[in-house]
Amino acid sequence: MATFDSVNPARPSEVIGTYPTQGAADVDRAVEAAAAAQRRWARVPIPARAGVITRAGEILLAHKAELAELVSRECGKILLEAGGDVQEAVDMANFVAGQGRGAWGETVPSELGSKLCWTTRAPIGVIGMITPWNFPVAIPSWKCFPALLAGNGIVLKPSEHAPTCAAAFVAACYEAGVPEGLIQLVHGYAEPAAAIAVHPGVGAVSFTGSVPTGRKVAAAAMETGPRLVSLELGGKNAMVVRPDADLDLVVDGAIFGAFGTSGQRCTSTSRLIVHPDVAGELVERIAKRAGELRLGDPIDPSTDVGPVINRASADRIAGMVADAIAEGATVACGGNVRHAVFGCDGGSFFEPTVLTGVDPHHRVAREEVFGPVLAVMEIADLDEALDVVNSVEYGLSSCIYSRDINTALYAVDRIDAGIVYVNAPTIGAEIPLPFGGTKHTGNGFREAGARGIEQFSQLKTVYIDYSGRLQRAQIDTPGPGLGVSPKGQAE
Ligand code: NAD
Repeated sequence: MATFDSVNPARPSEVIGTYPTQGAADVDRAVEAAAAAQRRWARVPIPARAGVITRAGEILLAHKAELAELVSRECGKILLEAGGDVQEAVDMANFVAGQGRGAWGETVPSELGSKLCWTTRAPIGVIGMITPWNFPVAIPSWKCFPALLAGNGIVLKPSEHAPTCAAAFVAACYEAGVPEGLIQLVHGYAEPAAAIAVHPGVGAVSFTGSVPTGRKVAAAAMETGPRLVSLELGGKNAMVVRPDADLDLVVDGAIFGAFGTSGQRCTSTSRLIVHPDVAGELVERIAKRAGELRLGDPIDPSTDVGPVINRASADRIAGMVADAIAEGATVACGGNVRHAVFGCDGGSFFEPTVLTGVDPHHRVAREEVFGPVLAVMEIADLDEALDVVNSVEYGLSSCIYSRDINTALYAVDRIDAGIVYVNAPTIGAEIPLPFGGTKHTGNGFREAGARGIEQFSQLKTVYIDYSGRLQRAQIDTPGPGLGVSPKGQAE
């Protein structure tokens, strides 16, 4: 069988793991095995399923340091952020396990007597999951834990850039007591993912990745569906800075938001929409700090910014910067790909870049860069600034910096995004709250939070009539002023 290598983006000659390039026949086998295991798992009481998830969280926590090192080596995240990736999975395990002992539906009073009305959640069956590389432990956990709690089997196709992290996550789940066969990993590029999307044995597809791939997956899944498809896609996240903002806070937030994870988060800050009164000072301070960030081996604790995922990605980012310059933007700092970073032969590093003089119509102001590039636009009027925030096709995360509560809350109301921050950068989501975006960022589902379970379960509405006679809803309903007999019959 053909194989592919997963490599360290900082030093591509260092192979992290070799995996089979799987295809549709492998997906067939994986779906069959997951379905067989799922039939047994669905009969396990929900609190017992939650117990397995709790244990998975404990195992991930116990191995946090070595897993963080793996995330750093396979995906190029600096060690500190790699630890955050693993911690997110631990937090998700704890949160989801808690849901296993919480409400599982709602009850409502019946309009008739002697009748119970409630909802419950049923498993879907086998869930197909297709994941990106940039949160290689966290994103599989966001999908797998709620899917397991809801009683499903899983076929997971992780990114070809992060198969080892996915394998380590799945191994922790099995060590925790997930029954044999319930989570199936398939490796490779687009082919197995495309096969999952159209497989008749896959009841729901949960996809996280770029907009173009998400569109393909959803179209294929629905053409052979109907089937539940959830999409978590890209972002073009904006930071709005008003003249009364605390600029120290803005500088810290912009540096972390724009250049953390080398700008390769779906929530990375990629647009800075700043009032002209403070733009000059702010850009100067951000550019100075950005220029001081140390590029290097992500596993070295003194490194601030690691590599981008591969050379093709670096070339794409460079192309977007070149287009921005051609459209009239100016480079305030950075702007170049660097291959000769100490100790990292062959890795592709992109210098933290600040572009000024960007117009909202420029490509760099509209398209996801997925790299460490901050596009600065100067806009005085708050409404105009918020119109620009909302003018892109994405709607994941945005933020406003202002000391004025009225300004801040006005912006919260007007920003069209799934996540809005005040006086904090566009990254920093927490597990108990819903995560996801509006417009082309997604199709309405949210991960994490109390409703994160929704894409992995189906609602069942249950009526139990214990009156001993036929009661007809909307027909036998007692009207206003009518009494109800002790037997529940209208008098
Ligand atoms: P990608 O779209 O290139 O790949 C995602 C997954 O899809 C991978 O497993 C890949 O192998 C698979 N794939 C590729 N081509 C396919 C095809 N034709 N059919 C089916 N599957 C296919 O994304 P990426 O580069 O891995 O990740 C970066 C993107 O993910 C960015 O756009 C980022 O914003 C987005 N992202 C979104 C969220 C979110 O929650 N909204 C989180 C993380 C990343």
